[in-house]
Amino acid sequence: MKEKDSLRVLVTGGAGFLGSHLCTRLVEEGHDVLCVDNFYTGTKANIAPLLGHPRFELMRHDITFPLYVEVDEIYNLACPASPVHYQHDPVQTTKTCVHGSINMLGLAKRVGARILQASTSEVYGDPTDHPQRESYWGHVNPNGIRACYDEGKRCAETLFADYRRQYGLRVKVARIFNTYGPNMHPDDGRVVSNFIMQALANEPITIYGDGTQTRAFCYVDDLIDGLMRLMRSPDDFWGPVNIGNPSEMNMLELAREIVALTGSRSEVRLFPLPGDDPVRRCPDISLAREVLGWDPRTQVTEGLTRTIAYFRDRTGSAASAPAS
Ligand code: NAD
Ligand code: UDP
Ligand code: UDP
Repeated sequence: MKEKDSLRVLVTGGAGFLGSHLCTRLVEEGHDVLCVDNFYTGTKANIAPLLGHPRFELMRHDITFPLYVEVDEIYNLACPASPVHYQHDPVQTTKTCVHGSINMLGLAKRVGARILQASTSEVYGDPTDHPQRESYWGHVNPNGIRACYDEGKRCAETLFADYRRQYGLRVKVARIFNTYGPNMHPDDGRVVSNFIMQALANEPITIYGDGTQTRAFCYVDDLIDGLMRLMRSPDDFWGPVNIGNPSEMNMLELAREIVALTGSRSEVRLFPLPGDDPVRRCPDISLAREVLGWDPRTQVTEGLTRTIAYFRDRTGSAASAPAS
């Protein structure tokens, strides 16, 4: 079947960090975008440039309740992503992942829409395999402080797989690894925004644990490109597929890089490591390369420089310019 050029696309969590970039890209491509958000962690400021655009519509709604709209595609991004936020109301986090997915899958089933789930590297938990491939089943504490998110997202994957098997739904599952960039909330609590805000204010950089734990950071533009390629991939490919930048680094290295790029006088200070914090994380992205022809293009230094400029602008920080 030939695709329509202009689609009606629902983005849940569209006022959040990733959702706002996705809404912008979809509107730019000529699609009609319905952004649904309950503003739990997202902000109107993130989508302010789109308000009033004839192809953009905003609806305040919590996806744990049913939603009856007519759309061609659904990107299900609604869910707090920062550990600080998803642990604030853990029961609501699980409800958003599970009830929210059921409602969005029920909607996709009724209208015949293609639906993409923003899953996560957290389905691998504190991984015993490294780097993580999609075939790895993970190592998750089912009742620890991260479980509301990790198990919620795992159950969402189960639902996506079963709606596909049972009802023939056209589903896509992206396992997103740590992503950063403009539109992250300054109080988001995730490591990149924390370190940048601290560096710009010349305050201590808060390293949890000894800072040797690793993550691999993907710039937001690359990530959105990966999600859109996955949505448009052939119907017989549903994933799950890792989307992330395999340039692994530890938190001390990240702190040093951000301090250097901001020209900050901040020093590192160590704090206790939160429970169940994964020790190592890095995606194997062979599948995304092979099936989606996707590869992240933005080097960490370049992406951090753009993100720092965004936070500097937003906070009006007087911290010194980067040393040349
Ligand atoms: P975010 O917190 O900035 O955005 C999430 C958005 O969802 C917010 O606008 C929030 O208000 C909204 N939301 C939360 N619960 C809702 C509900 N019940 N109903 C309607 N809206 C609701 O997070 P983000 O970084 O943009 O993440 C977006 C998605 O990508 C999430 O599903 C997250 O789990 C996933 N993800 C993100 C990353 C990352 O590094 N950014 C990594 C892995 C997975
Ligand atoms: N649903 C929704 N919008 C729709 C269709 C369904 O929000 O357009 C919700 C509704 O709450 C339903 C859930 O999706 O309970 C799952 O739908 P499904 O058709 O799979 O199951 P059922 O209707 O039998 O519960
Ligand atoms: N972290 C840190 N200082 C902070 C915030 C986070 O050292 O101010 C650590 C955190 O313990 C984890 C890593 O940075 O090991 C990434 O944390 P984040 O919350 O960004 O994401 P996630 O743990 O979900 O990958």
